[in-house]
Amino acid sequence: MTIGEGFDETDDDLPDFGSEFYSKYEPKEVLGRGISSVVRRCVDRKTQQEYAVKIIDISNEKASEAETEALKEATRNEVDILRKVSGHPNIIGFVDCFESLTFFFLVFELCKNGELFDHLTRVVTLSEKKTRQVMRHIFEAVRHVHSFGIVHRDLKPENILLDESMTVKVTDFGFAVELQETELLTDLCGTPGYLSPEILKCNMNLDADGYHKEVDLWACGVIMYTLLVGSPPFWHRKQMVMLRAIMDGRYQFSSPEWDDISDYPKDLISKLLVVDPSKRLTAEQALQHPFFESAEAQKGTPQFVPRRKFKAAVFVVRCIHKMKHWSGHFPISLQAVKEDPYRIKDIRKVIDGCAFRIYAHWVKKGEDQNRAALFENSAKVELKRMVSERRNRFRRKTPNLGSSSTSDVFMF
Ligand code: ADP
Ligand code: MG
Repeated sequence: MTIGEGFDETDDDLPDFGSEFYSKYEPKEVLGRGISSVVRRCVDRKTQQEYAVKIIDISNEKASEAETEALKEATRNEVDILRKVSGHPNIIGFVDCFESLTFFFLVFELCKNGELFDHLTRVVTLSEKKTRQVMRHIFEAVRHVHSFGIVHRDLKPENILLDESMTVKVTDFGFAVELQETELLTDLCGTPGYLSPEILKCNMNLDADGYHKEVDLWACGVIMYTLLVGSPPFWHRKQMVMLRAIMDGRYQFSSPEWDDISDYPKDLISKLLVVDPSKRLTAEQALQHPFFESAEAQKGTPQFVPRRKFKAAVFVVRCIHKMKHWSGHFPISLQAVKEDPYRIKDIRKVIDGCAFRIYAHWVKKGEDQNRAALFENSAKVELKRMVSERRNRFRRKTPNLGSSSTSDVFMF
């Protein structure tokens, strides 16, 4: 839902009206929901400034006293951690907190562009340039969080928000924990597709004693992979098979999706999706990777060579001439389109975009598997079949296009 639309106070009972929160803020429409929380837009009654409030219900009648106490404890931990890490440009701004007998109200800066997850569902994939910008923000946030000895443990596109200027804000510190350098964690928490091998191994009694902050860097690898091609690196309909692939670090830069992507992002991903956490890059090291150097710096500092300068000048003149006569389209052989339309980047974007528009309602939050299902081979084969049937019908109507000679081109 777009911010500001569809608010109806009768839709949802607003909780705990007596709370101090209401004297300061006016709650508005729902922005998102979690297992025990609802996030709403809210407005400061005095300044009219907009915020987001996470309302956590600690009064569930079905929950035992111990469970309620655990939820209260977890929320206080979330608040403590937010107070420590907030203030960084890529971490959600934490503004206010109210606690009543039945609810917690956590007030945050409002991210008008919502979740990175929804943005990705709209655009399907991000370019390398856009991925560089988003990942730099994520790594900056992770470096900041880790510098306090805090592990986030639930990094995924649903917990990465975008503000008005599309700046990344890492949020949801509900699973975050502060720990000593030598301390190891063992509890299983996070979202299946983003879990690191060491989290899974120590929960299956395999060769791992526990895990530390490296789990966030594994999740960054999964996010970066997903941003570039729209589908996650580890997925199988049978979850156990997927978890096995994660533990073995088995994933591919599969063709054709990865064919048009350069080596630097692949290299960075392959240094994050490393099974041994001690060999995985840290956030600091990831930020030093050549993928984050400017395009100019990546080419190296050019020396002055007169012959090369002359060649470059000729090249520029030729380019200008070509651009003058360039229509903005480029030719693709009809044969190539007929045989494998999905291999061609621009057609692939159209096909994936259509699939997302038709089936986006299948993509449930927190279940990255459904996103992956949209990219399954069978679906591609089906689309390919449909495209070739349409092409054949078109050819029957226009027999002149029927020749398979390589000189057959059409503008895309
Ligand atoms: P949970 O712990 O229940 O997952 P989150 O803190 O992740 O709670 O918030 C749930 C959802 O609410 C987010 O995924 C997002 O869609 C929305 N949301 C949370 N905080 C904000 C915010 N500051 N601005 C806009 N939307 C938000
Ligand atoms: Mg969340």
